[in-house]
Amino acid sequence: MFQTHREFDAHELVATCFDARSGLNAIIAVHDTSAGPAMGGCRIAPYQDMDAALTDVLRLSRGMTYKNIMAGLPYGGGKAVIVADPKAQKTPALITAFARRVGQLGGTFVTGEDVGTTVEDIQLMRQVTPHVRGIPENGPGDPSPMTALGVFCGIEAAVRHRLGRGDLAGSSVIVQGLGAVGFRLAELLHRAGVRLIISDLDPQRLTAARTAFGATIIEPDRCHAAEADVYAPCAMGGGMNARTIPELRVAIVAGAANNQLSTPTDGERIASRGILYAPDYVINAGGVISTALEGPGFDRAILLARVKRIATTLEEIFGRAAGQKLATSQVAEEMARERLVIARTRATQT
Ligand code: NAD
Repeated sequence: MFQTHREFDAHELVATCFDARSGLNAIIAVHDTSAGPAMGGCRIAPYQDMDAALTDVLRLSRGMTYKNIMAGLPYGGGKAVIVADPKAQKTPALITAFARRVGQLGGTFVTGEDVGTTVEDIQLMRQVTPHVRGIPENGPGDPSPMTALGVFCGIEAAVRHRLGRGDLAGSSVIVQGLGAVGFRLAELLHRAGVRLIISDLDPQRLTAARTAFGATIIEPDRCHAAEADVYAPCAMGGGMNARTIPELRVAIVAGAANNQLSTPTDGERIASRGILYAPDYVINAGGVISTALEGPGFDRAILLARVKRIATTLEEIFGRAAGQKLATSQVAEEMARERLVIARTRATQT
């Protein structure tokens, strides 16, 4: 049944997880384990139906394969989604039942925090299975600060490439979504002398950001159309589509949100407008790098160096895209697939 789904891409394993007692209704998707165990977060969201949940988990798990391989991590790609309202339906029994299913996979899938899950949830999962990451005692904990730092370095690289500016002072950036990543990103940008335009659905976050950074607030449904140097989507995915792309008034799209492109051709649509797009799974890898490096011997200096290397990968993508007259999304996918072929060849030889 999964094989006929439009988002199915030779995923190695797709498992449904039901538990009547706790109300668990989840899907775990392992896309590829050639480079190592599949690693990806556990998302809890009130999906409209199972098809929406399946679409999300298949796309997100493939995205994790690309993200991990482009970040040079010894992990494959996987993801889990739990169909529930995290505010109303998340219970310790639900989290524990999910962790049991992760444990049953014996380490093929390693999970962590994502939208709808917290560090406390991950700590609870850890009591049931060792196959979770993002435990504060073992390293950096919350991955969001490193995601924000990676996005910041990526914005610097994009501004250098597209606008020829050596630093961000005096540039303008729209930050959509002031959550765990977006707020920290806004802080880094503010410190670098950036003029900020911000939007969020939560008025408290807006007020906090306006007070802290002197930012200009814009309505959520119009923020993609504001005029600035950079648009940084840091809320939900799918924001770049046939309706929004023609309305963009920026030189660069570079933000943390996963699955920013509504369809693969939206990458080409952005490029055809002369706008530089930083592929999401490359620029937002700081969190997964942070998670992958946790454990005994964790070294913060090594983590920072690895996160800053995101800028180097982006420079390579921007350079190849310019040279080959391709969209950056196409080049990133090409590079990820090249690396995957190498990983698969190595995996079959060992
Ligand atoms: P979060 O839930 O903490 O924050 C999201 C914020 O976006 C919230 O403040 C929410 O109110 C706001 N928002 C939602 N819809 C909006 C809209 N239409 N307009 C404006 N604001 C809106 O999430 P996060 O952890 O900051 O992650 C943000 C994005 O980055 C997500 O797409 C996530 O998948 C991605 N991401 C996060 C990490 C990480 O380390 N947290 C890593 C990689 C990718």
